[in-house]
Amino acid sequence: MQLPIAPLSRIFSIFTTDAFGIPTEPEPWGINAVAKALSPLLSGNAIIHLPCSESWHALQVRASSPHVQPNFGMVVEVATEEDVQATVQTANRFNVPFLAVTGTHGWTTTLNNLPYGIQIRMRKLNVTTIDDGGQTATVGGGTLQHEITTALFAQKKQAVTGLCQCVSVAGPLLAGGHSALQARHGYAVDNIVSARIVLADGSVVTVSETENADLFWAIRGAGHNFGIVTRMTLRIYDIKKTWTVYTLIFTIDKIESLFKLVNKFDADPKRPSSMFLFGVGVRILDVDKSKPVIAYNVVFEGSEDEAYEWVQPFIVVGPASTQIAKNVDYEFLHTIIGEDLNSPACRTGMNIIGGTASIPKWNVTSLTIAFDIFSDMIADPRYSTSIFLLENYGIQGVQAVDPDSMSLSLEERKYPVLASPAIWWEGNRSEDAKNAIEYGDRMRQALFDGDNENTRRHTYVNYAKGDEPVEQMYGYEDWKIRKLVHLKKVYDPENRFRFYNPLV
Ligand SMILES: Cc1cc2nc3c(=O)[nH]c(=O)nc-3n(C[C@H](O)[C@H](O)[C@H](O)COP(=O)(O)OP(=O)(O)OC[C@H]3O[C@@H](n4cnc5c(N)ncnc54)[C@H](O)[C@@H]3O)c2cc1C
Repeated sequence: MQLPIAPLSRIFSIFTTDAFGIPTEPEPWGINAVAKALSPLLSGNAIIHLPCSESWHALQVRASSPHVQPNFGMVVEVATEEDVQATVQTANRFNVPFLAVTGTHGWTTTLNNLPYGIQIRMRKLNVTTIDDGGQTATVGGGTLQHEITTALFAQKKQAVTGLCQCVSVAGPLLAGGHSALQARHGYAVDNIVSARIVLADGSVVTVSETENADLFWAIRGAGHNFGIVTRMTLRIYDIKKTWTVYTLIFTIDKIESLFKLVNKFDADPKRPSSMFLFGVGVRILDVDKSKPVIAYNVVFEGSEDEAYEWVQPFIVVGPASTQIAKNVDYEFLHTIIGEDLNSPACRTGMNIIGGTASIPKWNVTSLTIAFDIFSDMIADPRYSTSIFLLENYGIQGVQAVDPDSMSLSLEERKYPVLASPAIWWEGNRSEDAKNAIEYGDRMRQALFDGDNENTRRHTYVNYAKGDEPVEQMYGYEDWKIRKLVHLKKVYDPENRFRFYNPLV
């Protein structure tokens, strides 16, 4: 364990000092005292970083900084489960708040409520091993999606994770985990068998259907509120086929025929679970100089021949261009659909916000209104690289799971459409943030206005931007919210896990 404890003068230099270098404002908690107490408790590979460390700045950069920037006074790079326990216990002893960080892609502004706490950096808990029998894998709480995918792919296996390679495995899973494989196998969370979790008091428990079953129920949907996952056992599946990916670029005049077709697919009980549909509104000047276009991926696990019947109706709509990638393996799929480590989706240090609506089907009128707002927004040079996510991954596998078996909201299982702008802009001007939020809110409102069947609005917890009411994220079933709140009192009475879209 390296502990770059700087001379006091250097540590104090981050605070206001008088002419003699004497601090005029003491730090809110004694960094040195915490570091000294924690240091002997940590394993050899753990590292404590202080604001004076050279590494400090890099450890503060997030996907959505500076707009989302939890305020840390110390980073502890943990290397073992015991390190996580020791850090939580020491933080509690000094009454310092803490937050687990893995993929740094959390984009909710509730993270900004962290007042000068300890960042528990999970990345060293990065391991993927296939268990005996080959039906499950043990995955570390600090693992990123590309790491699990690559490790399993080498053994011709795959797990249900989110799509974006730079996002963690645990982050999406704890509130669902929308996935290329969800139409067949359910959400990522539907595939967790057990987990090791460090609780608010620093104790560690195993949760599964048979051990601490109530907590296992709670972490599957509202997991960020209950603990830090150090390790999970996840169901894994044999890779049997390669994929065929159609990328169709539609001009905006096709919006009605395209999304009526998507609605038809979603309502078709024969929609294959081997297919997912994933579109983005985006600016492609070569195709349309003034308006955004829709880059639509029809992604099929199987050959071009097997995909033909399902892709043909999209071709009939009349894309401006069509590209086919054949024999794409699961590992490379993420690159083809623009979710790889080098893609714009994986940028860091660039503000990003959403404005997400989960809805039962597309209402073409309201989608057109949302697109008009999007069009105005990306004409503004500040937001020109933003996109409009139009996700219909398929929900047969999701709906095959008993909704009461876990805390995940009923709405999250019900709605096949996930729509959201992903608004990117640079810098820290408050006016730019304000305008971005206004655009996102207007787009979301338009999408919700088109849902005449429900007055109860739903937003996926992991796409929430931080101002949503609890029910909008965690669901409207009274019994689930009451049970979650009760379990929260049992397992986290001080509400230490309260910085990521908190339940209470
Ligand atoms: C570009 C982009 C692509 C995305 N793609 C998808 C997708 O394909 N599917 C999908 O479902 N979602 C997706 N999301 C949303 C994603 O699920 C959330 O942003 C998620 O919070 C990211 O987790 P992270 O570990 O990467 O980020 P972090 O900011 O590191 O973590 C987010 C929160 O998760 C908690 N956390 C992190 N690690 C742990 C741990 N080991 N144990 C317990 N809690 C932990 C903490 O509360 C933390 O604040 C995407 C988001 C972005 C920005």
